[in-house]
Amino acid sequence: MSPAMQFSELGLIPPLLAAVAAEGYTEPTPIQQRAIPHVLAGKDLLGLAQTGTGKTAAFALPILQRLGGEGVKQGYRKIRCLILTPTRELASQIDESFKTYGKNLALKSFVIFGGVGMEQQKQALRAGMDVLVATPGRLLDLSNQRLVDYSGIEVFVLDEADRMLDMGFIHDVKRVIAFLPRPRQTLFFSATMPREAQELADQLLIKPETVAVTPPSTTAEKVDQEVYFVDKTNKRNLLVDVLRDTTMKRVLVFSRTKHGANRIAEHLMKASIGAMAIHGNKSQSARERALADFKAGKIRCLVATDIAARGIDIDDVTHVVNFDVPEVPETYVHRIGRTARAGASGMAMTFCDAEERTDWRNIGRLTRQEIAIVEGHPFENAPPDRTPFLERPPMAPRGGNRGRSGGGGGRSFGGGGGGGGGGRSFGGGGGGGGGGTGASRPPLTSSGAAAAPAIHSGGGGGVGGDRPSAPGPSGLGERTAPGGGFGNRRRRR
Ligand code: AMP
Repeated sequence: MSPAMQFSELGLIPPLLAAVAAEGYTEPTPIQQRAIPHVLAGKDLLGLAQTGTGKTAAFALPILQRLGGEGVKQGYRKIRCLILTPTRELASQIDESFKTYGKNLALKSFVIFGGVGMEQQKQALRAGMDVLVATPGRLLDLSNQRLVDYSGIEVFVLDEADRMLDMGFIHDVKRVIAFLPRPRQTLFFSATMPREAQELADQLLIKPETVAVTPPSTTAEKVDQEVYFVDKTNKRNLLVDVLRDTTMKRVLVFSRTKHGANRIAEHLMKASIGAMAIHGNKSQSARERALADFKAGKIRCLVATDIAARGIDIDDVTHVVNFDVPEVPETYVHRIGRTARAGASGMAMTFCDAEERTDWRNIGRLTRQEIAIVEGHPFENAPPDRTPFLERPPMAPRGGNRGRSGGGGGRSFGGGGGGGGGGRSFGGGGGGGGGGTGASRPPLTSSGAAAAPAIHSGGGGGVGGDRPSAPGPSGLGERTAPGGGFGNRRRRR
């Protein structure tokens, strides 16, 4: 598939092409290139793609085209397309996308979710709409009040099917599906395909086309990843500490639990770091306010549970912090996919305590990527040196613009020393550019002794805004571990 493919080659009508151009999209994303022709042809589709790949437009554009909508329609309209999605945030975003892409068509879309009053939703259902985006629980509530007319539905989209299952919505989803008429076109999207999702897809789809983009176990290429081994009790202090880096402008912090998210946000606020928590116990308006403040840069940190964060459309997340190591390895992939979106590069940091090391190793097995271990930080609780984290040969150097830049913005643990332009420095001592390590244990590198100090110093070798890529003769202190063939790098601060 040519990367320079144009939207106009996909067979979309001018009103849609104009809307897409107005959004500034220059070319379709891979899921759009591959899914749109099938959906336009009326086929059922199994789309393996996560949020951030452009999947909403991949289904919204061809659906809008199918529904037509040229010429102004008056009066009641039957629902012709239903989209079920797990969270309110996703539902709102999908509805907004339909409105944006459909702005040159006379179609009406509406969104329904729980946690808000029902009256407006009832009125909208009575007035009718072409496209209904909904979360399953509230839709069922309204269905039980006989307010939803499913008889005109031609297209059904099940979005984020795996997340629906995770969230325990399967029964609600099945109840909704039982209302849907045949024949219809069904589009099924999921980032991963656990057995239950496959069973559901088998029930729903008839001779589907399958389109998969970025295999689910592949982490976003542009995300630079680091792990900090730390005691559980020190994680909040470590978070405050890493946030002294002012290049961490828009930070999404993941917490396994809602209470944990609250506690982390409170701790950050006490440390004068702007933060808010977002999770299912928060009211819709609190969630919206947190998101808006985060997007506007009023707060640096949004602390979220996986469910709340999934599908939130925030560009320019500079850093993802996994405050807890996810138990399900795929969740790690989803989380870090929240940074480095829309072509930007990003950074993911994981805080791993002793109890989480098995989960962390499982993530390594899934992603098979090189993840730098940050050594010499003030709260270090190092794993046994010989833990084979990734059982594969060292990664080849990554190219592009991700090489180490100079000292500006650099961070430095252990080194003290010389002028690192905006650099951070933990620990004491150290001299100038080649300063002392000040770290508690030596790097696990064969030749690190000679090479490592450059990275520790706040001087020319400081870690700049761009992250290091390749091990090699650069003398930048980044090495793959010798001997055991572990693929993980050691990054000293
Ligand atoms: P989604 O995966 O649907 O959540 O989309 C992720 C983000 O990509 C959204 O902010 C979209 O506005 C944006 N987007 C979708 N399609 C394109 C495209 N072809 N070019 C640039 N951005 C896009």
